[in-house]
Amino acid sequence: MVLKLYNTLTRKKEVFKPIKKGQVGMYSCGPTVYWYQHIGNLKAYIFADILKRTLEFDGYKVKHVINITDVGHLTSDADEGEDKMEKEAAKEGKTAKEIADYYFKLFFEDLKKLNIKEPDTWCKATEHIKEQIALIKKLEDKGYTYRTEDGIYFDTAKFKDYGKLARLNISGLKAGKRIEMKNKKNKTDFALWKFSDVPGKRQQEWDSPWGLGFPGWHIECSAMSMKYLGEHFDIHTGGVDHIPIHHTNEIAQSEAATGKKFVNCWMHENFLTFKGEKVSKSKGGLFTLTELQEKGFEPLAYRYFILTGSYRQPIDFSLEILEGSKNAYERLKNIISDFGDDESINKEYLKKFEEAINDDLNTPEALAVLWKFVRDKDAEGKIKTIEKMDSVLGLKLFEKEKIEIPEEVKKLAEERENARKEKNWKKADELREKIKKQGFEILDTKEGWEIKKG
Ligand code: AMP
Ligand code: ZN
Repeated sequence: MVLKLYNTLTRKKEVFKPIKKGQVGMYSCGPTVYWYQHIGNLKAYIFADILKRTLEFDGYKVKHVINITDVGHLTSDADEGEDKMEKEAAKEGKTAKEIADYYFKLFFEDLKKLNIKEPDTWCKATEHIKEQIALIKKLEDKGYTYRTEDGIYFDTAKFKDYGKLARLNISGLKAGKRIEMKNKKNKTDFALWKFSDVPGKRQQEWDSPWGLGFPGWHIECSAMSMKYLGEHFDIHTGGVDHIPIHHTNEIAQSEAATGKKFVNCWMHENFLTFKGEKVSKSKGGLFTLTELQEKGFEPLAYRYFILTGSYRQPIDFSLEILEGSKNAYERLKNIISDFGDDESINKEYLKKFEEAINDDLNTPEALAVLWKFVRDKDAEGKIKTIEKMDSVLGLKLFEKEKIEIPEEVKKLAEERENARKEKNWKKADELREKIKKQGFEILDTKEGWEIKKG
């Protein structure tokens, strides 16, 4: 079956063609590990995971790389402001490495909770300084760089097609105000290497052919993706916010250095919003996954919620909407848990499902097919077919929930069992009702009784 993916570069859904038969190289821009990842950030990795699982479903062998930004990401996109890592380290009185390790670990645990597959390669910016310097050197040798008082910059005017990804109006951008330009030649020029202003003041700084300093944020993704996937690879993912600056700059510096096309297909997920605006501290909706768990939402209910929307559209979040997804997810699992053994595959439903996910990862449609299938009493092959569908959705649809049964409910269940032994059916029924009011259902089995969530 053909897989169609929307390519930001061409603004079209295209038939996916791998560079090497049967294989896919895929790079996803990872987190800056200076703080907790919020559920908006995590959406980016649920999207990449669905993409990877779809490619695997289609029979490709995927090599997936995610980077960890642990240096050089400044608080302002204009190559100014403080380094986010250094700032947090100073605030918490820790080393930048301690900060990076701590927040990476939390991020890693969140991915596991969301059933996101680990990439084949994790790569940290601080562990690839040599590769970044080599790439900047190459750009310098080719005449794409210049020096200002605070660093080595990429001259965007020298790269034909700069801004092609974002369709930027370059002529409009070049006329930056003096004050915004600092010593830059063009407003869109960006730092490849920044000098340490006071040597020894920063925790993270390295020697380079240009002096003591640290890499700019964008160069790490070019250096590391090319190291692990080659100079030309298949798919690069990120959030839509990366289109105008980060990915635009990645393309410019990579293609300038190699003289060839960098990435075939650029894919971007849209924002998690709250009341129509990107989730943020001031506007709201900025939860961590752990905070959602504390409010009684299991991580996979959040994954289900994300899959109810198209990755290319913004999706509006609220606890009420999430509650709806949680109920739907639990209902779905409950229905599935009642299906008996059946070794066959339902080709008709599986085909519909494949058509949906291969149409630019249409997860809302894929879920609709799944729902129709589970409700279709005449449809056969439920177990095996749903297993296949779940290899893409990653919702652990067959995993039994570990339900915490409150002590009080357990006591009521025992009382009911005694009432039954005494053949006091009226009392037993009353107790069943009481248990029901607590949100649980009691089932009588050969072995005695069992409690299910009602
Ligand atoms: P950062 O750590 O800020 O570099 O962000 C990590 C990833 O999360 C990037 O790919 C961003 O595009 C993405 N991202 C940030 N905020 C949101 C949001 N509200 N919704 C969806 N993705 C987001
Ligand atoms: Zn990146």
